[in-house]
Amino acid sequence: MAVRFVIIGGGPAGVQAATHAARLGADVTMIERDLVGGAANLWDCIPSKAMIATGGVMSASRRAHAMGLRPIDPALDFDSLHQRINDIQSGLTESLVELLDSQGVRLLAGTGTFKGAHEVVADVEGKTLEVEADAVLVSTGSRPRIPEWADVDGERVLTTRQAYPPPELPSHLVVIGSGVTGVEFVHMFSSFGSDVTLIVSRQQVLPQKDPEVAAVLEDNFLKRGVRLFKGARAVGIVREGDEVTVNCDDGRAGRGSHALLAIGSIPNTEELGLEAAGVQVDAGGYVPINQHCQSNVGHVYAAGDVSGRLPLASVAFMQGRKVAEHVMGLHTREHRHLDYDKAASAIFTEPEIADVGLAEADAFAIGRKIRVTKVPFAVNARALIDGDARGFVKIVSDPATGVVLGGSIVGHGASELISVLALAVTANLKVTDIVESLLVHPALAEALADAAE
Ligand SMILES: Cc1cc2nc3c(=O)[nH]c(=O)nc-3n(C[C@H](O)[C@H](O)[C@H](O)COP(=O)(O)OP(=O)(O)OC[C@H]3O[C@@H](n4cnc5c(N)ncnc54)[C@H](O)[C@@H]3O)c2cc1C
Repeated sequence: MAVRFVIIGGGPAGVQAATHAARLGADVTMIERDLVGGAANLWDCIPSKAMIATGGVMSASRRAHAMGLRPIDPALDFDSLHQRINDIQSGLTESLVELLDSQGVRLLAGTGTFKGAHEVVADVEGKTLEVEADAVLVSTGSRPRIPEWADVDGERVLTTRQAYPPPELPSHLVVIGSGVTGVEFVHMFSSFGSDVTLIVSRQQVLPQKDPEVAAVLEDNFLKRGVRLFKGARAVGIVREGDEVTVNCDDGRAGRGSHALLAIGSIPNTEELGLEAAGVQVDAGGYVPINQHCQSNVGHVYAAGDVSGRLPLASVAFMQGRKVAEHVMGLHTREHRHLDYDKAASAIFTEPEIADVGLAEADAFAIGRKIRVTKVPFAVNARALIDGDARGFVKIVSDPATGVVLGGSIVGHGASELISVLALAVTANLKVTDIVESLLVHPALAEALADAAE
């Protein structure tokens, strides 16, 4: 009899696990209470990048004179922007549903909860269906964290989920939180023409990132007139009529027309009945996992944001894939473990920021000898042709072997270019492998070969 695999939550982790396991011969049931594609498609990755792409066209138009054009000043059309986001989302959802269907995955549109270690209940349109499982994946994702001092009203005090697009274009947006999500929203709304204030709890935006990389972004924000409140923690939001004031612990106050919370997320695990299956969660509500994404109960897996590892759709996809292989017993000695330290990530600001593997600062912190080489895009022909030569490529390698250990890219196209370094890091390629690749000319990727030299 085929392995009965039940998946609760149809975001990136769930969809990837379902299609891969079905391909490998499992009998797969997926329970999704909202839309297949998950928060990634509905609220997070897709709408945010769609809005950033629109903002990118607006800011490129403002630089039209640099491309030999007369200045253009496009205005935002909220209705067509909304339509554009809906079209992209529904197109992606439809193709995922078709994919699941073509693989024979049974899709139950409802809420899933555990009844026992091997029994999952799906609440579908008021009817209760009980599904027996040999293996279960919890891939229920996460939702924005709302602190007790914030009264979110969906009008002027918003979470990221209410900003696609917001009810009206903010004349002045106060963004709380300067991690990846916060800086992307600063970039998005300042491209649209809103004034923006960013509350930065530390002394640097993107506190987890290489200071040199963060400095380029801060510089860009300041040039655009973004106000940075560094070293300030938001402690309260007051709305008076059309004005919103974000009060900080150091006495400063950020005043604007709207405030947006971007201070992290919390896992969707409270209402799953995990205790019925004996599955433990940690103090933050995440399901702790081992290298195979197994929870403390061997046949119950967790993947994606609920696992408390890197909260990225790309990581969720790969975890889902590894879960499917483990469920189907394909885990062998040769099997490649998921190495979270080798995950590439990107920040879709202007310039874009992307990195992978070992960072220069982390190497120094652990006393590891490294070779760091850096090339600015200002000497790259394609960057000059494209009219955007901001930023640089930095490659970190092992001085003894030449193996690529990591790298950072700041600049136009960084989110695509980082794939080359991600491949190099995953496959233990050497800098000479990059240098000796016959690349296209003129291409931004040539900056990688120059940095690898
Ligand atoms: C603003 C923003 C932008 C982002 N941009 C990017 C990006 O550009 N690139 C990137 O890699 N990552 C990005 N992320 C992170 C990314 O969105 C998440 O890491 C990813 O969505 C996690 O996928 P998941 O499979 O864990 O769950 P989700 O995408 O959260 O999906 C979980 C699904 O489970 C369903 N569900 C929950 N409970 C139940 C239940 N009891 N029964 C049935 N169904 C249930 C939900 O309806 C949902 O559809 C972004 C995050 C945010 C907040």
